[in-house]
Amino acid sequence: MSFVLPELSYDKTSLEPHIDVRTMEIHHGKHHQAYVTNLNNAVKGTEFENLDILDLLGRLKDLPDSIRGAVRNNGGGHANHSLFWSVISPNGGGVPSGELASAINESFGSLDAFKEAFGTAAKTRFGSGWAWLGMKNGKLVVCSTPNQDNPLMQGLCDCSCTPILGLDVWEHAYYLNYQNRRPDYVSAFWNIVNWEQVSKNFSNAK
Ligand code: MN
Repeated sequence: MSFVLPELSYDKTSLEPHIDVRTMEIHHGKHHQAYVTNLNNAVKGTEFENLDILDLLGRLKDLPDSIRGAVRNNGGGHANHSLFWSVISPNGGGVPSGELASAINESFGSLDAFKEAFGTAAKTRFGSGWAWLGMKNGKLVVCSTPNQDNPLMQGLCDCSCTPILGLDVWEHAYYLNYQNRRPDYVSAFWNIVNWEQVSKNFSNAK
């Protein structure tokens, strides 16, 4: 078995104008595919090749030095993008509901305060990385990671939580449409957040 690029559940044109089709084609078909290919090459023939991707990230410490860096970068890339595609949707936007909405209010005070904290994490991540909403000790937290680090990388990532929502702030995620205007890309993100999926992730992480 090897790791596989997940199919998108929506058309690559359908996120416009928030994310343009050319960015989606290159981001999913080239960047994410490259992480999958490089990950498969790194773990091929090892006892780690059949692990679930999230289990693999949680066991980075156990990997041989010779492949740990490749798995950190490419396994992180595969997991991060797989989550990202699932938490955006042409039918997204709006506001969260139910238990997730209550938990956001409890942890951050209000939805707007959460968006502010998450947006700040996304905008202030220097260089390439990710902003996250995750569960830690039963509470929601916001954080960011550099490169393709994932909050599940215990011991290698100082942002320790179970991510339920992630935003890619690598330039490859927005540069064709937004150039240097990362804040505009971050604002547009709220129009396509798939809160239904984030609620499912929240329930699973509890
Ligand atoms: Mn990306």
